Amino acid sequence: GVPEVPARPVAPRRHARRIQVGPVAVGGGAPVSVQSMTTTRTSDIGATLQQIAELTASGCQIVRVACPTQDDADALATIARKSQIPVIADIHFQPKYVFAAIEAGCAAVRVNPGNIKQFDDKVREIARAAKEHATPIRIGVNAGSLDRRLLQKYGRATPEALVESALWEASLFEEHDFRDIKISVKHNDPVVMIEAYRQLAEACDYPLHLGVTEAGPAFQGTIKSAVAFGALLSRGIGDTIRVSLSAPPAEEVKVGIQILESLGLRQRRLEIVSCPSCGRAQVDVYKLAEEVTAGLDGMEVPLRVAVMGCVVNGPGEAREADLGVASGNGKGQIFVKGEVVKTVPESRIVETLIEEAMKLAERTGPA
Ligand code: SF4
Repeated sequence: GVPEVPARPVAPRRHARRIQVGPVAVGGGAPVSVQSMTTTRTSDIGATLQQIAELTASGCQIVRVACPTQDDADALATIARKSQIPVIADIHFQPKYVFAAIEAGCAAVRVNPGNIKQFDDKVREIARAAKEHATPIRIGVNAGSLDRRLLQKYGRATPEALVESALWEASLFEEHDFRDIKISVKHNDPVVMIEAYRQLAEACDYPLHLGVTEAGPAFQGTIKSAVAFGALLSRGIGDTIRVSLSAPPAEEVKVGIQILESLGLRQRRLEIVSCPSCGRAQVDVYKLAEEVTAGLDGMEVPLRVAVMGCVVNGPGEAREADLGVASGNGKGQIFVKGEVVKTVPESRIVETLIEEAMKLAERTGPA
C-alpha cells in the first residue's frame, strides 16, 4: 500500500481542507494521490472495468471515466460498484449526467463549468444532491473551455482568468453551504499552469488536483508534467495529480508515481542510480542499467541500486546504495549495504544483482 508518511518530502504541504474521494483522502495532509482516466467507451462496461483493473494494478488510486452520453451515464452504477478504486464521473455539457453520476454512487463528479450551460442555475440542485450522497465535486477549469465571460474579460486563458473562473464556480457552491470541493485549473503551457495554481493556492484552502492538460505524447508530456508538478509540489502545492499523455493511461500512472517518488512525497521503491557513462566506462552501462531495471521491475520494497560504469565514482555510489555494482576489467564488484560481497564476471552481473535484490527484499519486507 501507499505509505502515510512520505520518505523525505520536498517541502511542507500547503494547508488544504480534506475531502474524501471514496476511501482516498485528498488534502489535509493526506498523501498526494495519483489518478488517471480511462480511454474506453464508458458504456462498454467490460472494457472499462478491464482497463480500470489494469490501472489499479499499475498503482492508480482514483480513476475518472468520461460520461458524454446517456448510455455512459447508465453504465456508471455498475462501474462504480465493481471498480476496486474510486470512480469519478467526468461531466461536460449536461447537468443531468451530474445527477445521474451522484445517484450511481460515483466517488466524485468532475464538472467543467465553462462547458455546462445554465450551470449557475443548477448549482443549488447539484449541491443538494451531492451533499445528500456525500459526493465531492471537482471544479475542473480548462484553458480550452474557459467561460466565455472570462475569455472576453481577459482576452485569453490567463492564470487570472482560470483562477477567477474556478473561484466563481466555487462561490456558487459556497452560497449553498457546499464546500466538499477540489479544484483544477489546467493549461497546456506549464508556465501559465504553474502561475494559475500558485494564485489559486493562495486564494483558497480547497485541495488542488494538478494537471497539465493536453501535455502531448509520452516524452513531451512526461517532461511538461514533471516540470510543472515539480515546481508546484516543491512549494507544497497539490493534493492529487493526473499526468495527461497521448499514451495508454497506465503510462500516466507510472509517470505520476515516479514524480512523487522523485520529490520524496512517496516512499521510493526501486531506484536505479546509474551513471551516464563516458569515455572511461568499462562496461555497457545503458544495457546493464536497462537489464537491471527490467529484472527488478515490480519489486515492492524500497531499493536503491547503483549501476556504475567504472571505478571512478563506482565504488562510492555503489557503497551508498542498498545494492550496487562497480565495473572494471571485465568484472563487477557487487556491493550489498556498502560491503563488497563478491566479484563476478561481467556476464553474471545482472543475475547476481537480481539474486542479491531478492535476498534483500526478503529481509526488508514490502514497503
Ligand atoms: Fe564515466 Fe565511470 Fe562516471 Fe560512469 S562512473 S560516468 S563510466 S567516470
